[in-house]
Amino acid sequence: NLSEIVRKIAVEYIMMLDGDQVELDVETPDEDILLPIDAPLMERALRNLLDNAIRYGKDGRYLGIQLTADDQFVNFSVKDKGKGIPIEHQAHVFERFYRVDSGRKGEGLGIGLAIVKDIAYAHQGNVELKSTPNVETVFRIKLPR
Ligand code: ATP
Ligand code: MG
Repeated sequence: NLSEIVRKIAVEYIMMLDGDQVELDVETPDEDILLPIDAPLMERALRNLLDNAIRYGKDGRYLGIQLTADDQFVNFSVKDKGKGIPIEHQAHVFERFYRVDSGRKGEGLGIGLAIVKDIAYAHQGNVELKSTPNVETVFRIKLPR
């Protein structure tokens, strides 16, 4: 049940962010959205996206996680309102070890999004990025039903 996965992950992050004055906007359909997936892997993908949204979007103090579904597809979206990803980097961020600010120390390895992409592909889906720097960044995992 994908609605349940989204709610579970949202609760996990609400507890983790407690006191950080980050707004977490959660949207899921009221009904169950059932799909045969590897739930722990999909949870891993959502955590990778949320961890990025927190790490790179923190000044915006806004995070969103959304599940939508139509007859053919389900979409998980993770949004932030941080500095975003300039257009010239957008095609590359899913590559292993690619980081936009590669000079900065003490952050990640650059594998989180490569794993998200692998997990989406393993479910016959894909992952899309739309980013307007300093306005809104959205990663969307799209899976066929
Ligand atoms: P880790 O392996 O710990 O996830 P990482 O976060 O650097 O390390 P990815 O998650 O693959 O690696 O992200 C790759 C790069 O894409 C990041 O280094 C960052 O520059 C950029 N990026 C990813 N998500 C966002 C986001 N929400 N806002 C702005 N930049 C982002
Ligand atoms: Mg990451």
